[in-house]
Amino acid sequence: MGQLDGKIAIITGASRGMGASHAHRFVAEGAKVLLTDMRADLGKALAAELGGGAIFAEHDVTSAADWHRIVGIAEDEFGPVTVLVNNAGILGPMAKTADVVEADYMHVCAVNQHSIYLGMRAVIPSMLRAGQGSIVNISSIAGLVANYGFPSLAYVASKFAVRGMTKAAAVEYGPDNIRCNSVHPGFIMTPMMVEATNEEGGDALAQIPLRRIAEPEEVSNLVLFLASDQSSYISGAEHVIDAGMTAQ
Ligand code: NAP
Repeated sequence: MGQLDGKIAIITGASRGMGASHAHRFVAEGAKVLLTDMRADLGKALAAELGGGAIFAEHDVTSAADWHRIVGIAEDEFGPVTVLVNNAGILGPMAKTADVVEADYMHVCAVNQHSIYLGMRAVIPSMLRAGQGSIVNISSIAGLVANYGFPSLAYVASKFAVRGMTKAAAVEYGPDNIRCNSVHPGFIMTPMMVEATNEEGGDALAQIPLRRIAEPEEVSNLVLFLASDQSSYISGAEHVIDAGMTAQ
């Protein structure tokens, strides 16, 4: 018996990186999963690899119309949505505050922050129909502290916002049996991480008490737990997975 038997999930940014890892784990644990991303070729190939428990749909998380379409696809294929993993995100400019271009700032906030509002707004009515829900919003240690090795005002702003939006939704929809939690990863080995450091972790290692970069699967263990009924009394909470970085 799988930990997600009977669950119907949407995972955004699922074509690669952590989202792809979560998709693998969710399907293995019995969930029906709608993978979404703007990288359609990768996403379609992954859904085919995962078999009947997974389908893929192209989706820009900054588009309200796309969100409406995506929820319709999930409901038509599988039924009312019970799990939403708001995972899609971008790092944006690595620049100090006075050097951040306004358009770049707005784009990072659109993808990382505004999408969380659009996604929860679109999916919560489906969860209300299901009578249950678990929303997992992927923030970052940059949603807890500003100094994690890179100057990145927009990323920090957006990821701090995700943390607060998570608590607001948890309070509002707790009486409807919908839980909402944020996840705060440290350094995880994904294409985003490699692009940011231009190498396999680089100087980041010295900042990490465990002295290693995590594999995406290690974060999937936590996301799986929060999506499943194993975490039935956990809501409105911040879940840090950073090998002790923010403990320093
Ligand atoms: P990733 O490897 O870059 O994967 C993210 C996926 O989301 C990519 O396929 C990306 O496509 C997609 N995406 C970007 N913008 C989108 C949009 N507007 N609509 C739909 N999909 C979009 O990143 P990751 O490292 O797995 O990160 C996943 C999440 O974890 C992000 O929210 C990130 O901020 C967070 N996080 C990552 C780390 C880390 O160390 N890796 C640490 C803390 C938090 P494109 O490649 O085309 O942009």
